[in-house]
Amino acid sequence: MKVSEIFVSVQGEGLDVGKAITFLRLTGCNLACEWCDTQYASRPGSEFKVLSPKEIIKKIQSFKVPAVSITGGEPLIQKKELIALCKLAQNINYFIDIQTNGTLYEEVLGSLVDRFSVSPKLTSSGNHFTKRFNKQVWFRYIEQHKKYKNVTFKFVIQDKKDRNEALNLLNRFPAIRNIKIPIILQPEIDVKKAESLETQAEALRWLIEDNIMDDKTRLKWQGYNLFIIPQIHKYCWGNKRRV
Ligand code: SF4
Repeated sequence: MKVSEIFVSVQGEGLDVGKAITFLRLTGCNLACEWCDTQYASRPGSEFKVLSPKEIIKKIQSFKVPAVSITGGEPLIQKKELIALCKLAQNINYFIDIQTNGTLYEEVLGSLVDRFSVSPKLTSSGNHFTKRFNKQVWFRYIEQHKKYKNVTFKFVIQDKKDRNEALNLLNRFPAIRNIKIPIILQPEIDVKKAESLETQAEALRWLIEDNIMDDKTRLKWQGYNLFIIPQIHKYCWGNKRRV
């Protein structure tokens, strides 16, 4: 597999925030988000090491933290090896999280993975709509959640336009509300401004005030299993790598 880095930290975002976890960052992505904070792993020409699933598991086990977050780049572009890796991790009872951009799906992974953090990209990402949105893939994740209860949808929100788009997309899939798939709104922090705690707090404050404290917008989220969660690693380390 094309591996960018392997390291231990806490999960900095999503429903497992604060959990001690080993990160496996794979190289390569099928999108090119303007605000991508891991361009060293997602853009064409990014550096990588080639390791087999067995070699990766050996390295991961050496950290003695029985949980792994497989991220990228986009992990699902290496589907075949990803399945082999997840099978090995499941055999040793690891908690497995996969972070994906929601454009690709692989059914076999549904029963192997504890948490599928699906993060569809919105207008602010700069990707063309037809590249970043795949209706069939959304349906597949919804079906997967009905069976395994292991899917969350996470949206990186830069402004009201993003928030409205997230709501419009979600409204196309009433099942998401009906089966209470967790929906996470995460503030987008400009990579150049990530060092500033005040910038981060402001973005989080706006997201809470605008979506939960504002009476009109709160109504639009009625029935959704909504969470607003910042990236805690950005608060601690800004845009530093391997944290
Ligand atoms: S999908 Fe994720 S890894 Fe790929 S470019 Fe966008 S933010 Fe970066």
